[in-house]
Amino acid sequence: MSKVSGTLLVRNANIFAPQPLGINDILVVAGKIVFISEDIEKPSWVEKEFDCDGRCVIPGLIDLHVHLLGGGGEAGPSSRLPEVTFAELAQGGITTCVGCLGTDDVTRHLEELLAKARALCDQGSTAYIYTGSYQIPPVTLTGSVKRDLVLIPEVIGVGEIAISDHRSSQPTLEEFVRVAAEARVGGLLGGKRGIVHIHVGSAPSGLEILRQTVQSTPLPISQFHPTHVNRTPKLLGEAVEWVRAGGTVDLTVPSKTLTWEFVSAVRKLAEVDPDWERFTFSSDGGGSMPKFDEHGHLIGYASGDVRALWEAVRGLLQEGFPLEIVLRPVTVNPARILGIEGSKGEIDVGKDADLVVLDENFHVVATIAKGKVIYSAAL
Ligand code: ZN
Repeated sequence: MSKVSGTLLVRNANIFAPQPLGINDILVVAGKIVFISEDIEKPSWVEKEFDCDGRCVIPGLIDLHVHLLGGGGEAGPSSRLPEVTFAELAQGGITTCVGCLGTDDVTRHLEELLAKARALCDQGSTAYIYTGSYQIPPVTLTGSVKRDLVLIPEVIGVGEIAISDHRSSQPTLEEFVRVAAEARVGGLLGGKRGIVHIHVGSAPSGLEILRQTVQSTPLPISQFHPTHVNRTPKLLGEAVEWVRAGGTVDLTVPSKTLTWEFVSAVRKLAEVDPDWERFTFSSDGGGSMPKFDEHGHLIGYASGDVRALWEAVRGLLQEGFPLEIVLRPVTVNPARILGIEGSKGEIDVGKDADLVVLDENFHVVATIAKGKVIYSAAL
């Protein structure tokens, strides 16, 4: 029988789905997992084989906050940062990402962001985008957040809308609620979650506008997913209360090595969410990390690297947290919050074959996206 293209047999994978499944083989057809079992006899039509030699295999990571076009610009045009590349995402074990614009929606455009997401998909990855940017009224592709969500498959939500930040458009409650309501209805009509992804700055108002929104409107708390909440101890305290009230939050991982502050933020959230189900991690990759003094003057600049996402998770492993737990904020949780859990976030029959192979020190040695090996270190 002739070989069927796009078929792959992954051998001897020590699967963390995230829950541990032991050593199994995984059969992939047309980018989907169709069978998981011990010692699958290779069908004659299977084109490729990939032997994991008993290494840990985890679901492809989901990074729900990436400045795919590069962010920056807050120190003038020369501070604009370069695009995130397909290779960086693949090396970092990221098989699904969501692109956002950020502060600069003047020289960066949603049309360009959509093209970038489509390019990543063509290369083998899965990429979505948020419509809008920091500001309200939001920039859109088709005239409204609602229309973008209904009409454009890659648009998964709106964001990152900035609040409590000197770079925010300082929306009133009414303006903010209006955009969230559009995301709600657009999501319903488009068969999506229509998540409202919020950039939270370090101003004392914190999550206040979100609390007022869920108190004064019928919009559910699950519509909102605020990020950067580990920015200050005060904001983290508000985030813990938000999670206690049934909300979800996103932590931005440290840009290089794991920090004490990040570990402590995770521990605080785990106190109110012991099963690690209501928080996610993201890289803010490609984004600028400007540092301002107390007068609002720019004093320094760094850029986010998507590969820091896995490094943070690896750091938590070294802190002694179990693999099946630390995987949740970068796999099943973002999948559920974004509304893509039907195909993403777990190693299971019927899901996309997005897999990451780890070595004994939990470094990424291979990334498989929709059944295609998109990164492989010398094994
Ligand atoms: Zn942000």
